[in-house]
Amino acid sequence: MTAVGGGNVAVSEVSTDGRITGSVTPVEKVKSIVAIPRCLDVKCATCKRQFTARANTPDKTITCRACGKAFSVPTYAAKIDKASGKFEITGLPAGQRYDLIVQTTMGRIEGVDLSPLETELEKLRRKRVRANPREFGTEDRETIVELITKVKQFENFVRPIYIVGHGEKATALVEKARIQDEKTEKFHSEKGNEAIWRVELWYFRRWFGGWERVSNVEGVLYRLRIPRSKYDAMNWVFSDTLGGIEVDPAGKSERVKIELPAQLDPKRGRVATSEP
Ligand SMILES: [Zn+2]
Repeated sequence: MTAVGGGNVAVSEVSTDGRITGSVTPVEKVKSIVAIPRCLDVKCATCKRQFTARANTPDKTITCRACGKAFSVPTYAAKIDKASGKFEITGLPAGQRYDLIVQTTMGRIEGVDLSPLETELEKLRRKRVRANPREFGTEDRETIVELITKVKQFENFVRPIYIVGHGEKATALVEKARIQDEKTEKFHSEKGNEAIWRVELWYFRRWFGGWERVSNVEGVLYRLRIPRSKYDAMNWVFSDTLGGIEVDPAGKSERVKIELPAQLDPKRGRVATSEP
């Protein structure tokens, strides 16, 4: 119901009757649920220019490319019935996709949208490439894992959290960290024992028989530079089922059933007891 931020932006010519409803169990474990539209069609309230913004990080700002005006990424909080576990999020701009961020007593479970990257032409035609798991085999996956892990990077820990194939396209959620220990050198201008943690969406396509990463896509969800102790204590995982929830132009969406796990899965992100 509550739109946090977004004071300077008007969502362009769409109704804000959109809603996401569902249930969460066990309800005692949930603290809050918010929806975030990571890719948002907006109209700048200052210069009236319409554009599509990448709104990857909830506490960051979006800058209008035409006039330079900045506004905060809007997020929408759910009303949760603490008895039944039913929740609803209302007032959403329709015709957008949303990820849910669920804060629990165990930590944060964050939805990610792993749908394939659409070209401008595909967007115009409103033609979405549907997932076809039969076309995406073990070999494809292995090639993509290699493309992710074999690149020489600033970070000394890199892994895919998810890889989803869509025929000739694939999307991966990649976790990278630069962690200081006895084997690594100190960071540039390092103050103490620090870690740099990044979570990014990487897009791939098959091109002339081989896989390649699609460049120039702003896929960084998070980049944190934090004390090592804070990094080690993080409880923050990602979930494909909580991401890419489509609110259609009429404002409707499929019900979301959230079943919280007994424990967070270290394969899906940072869990305090897990070693990187
Ligand atoms: Zn503007």
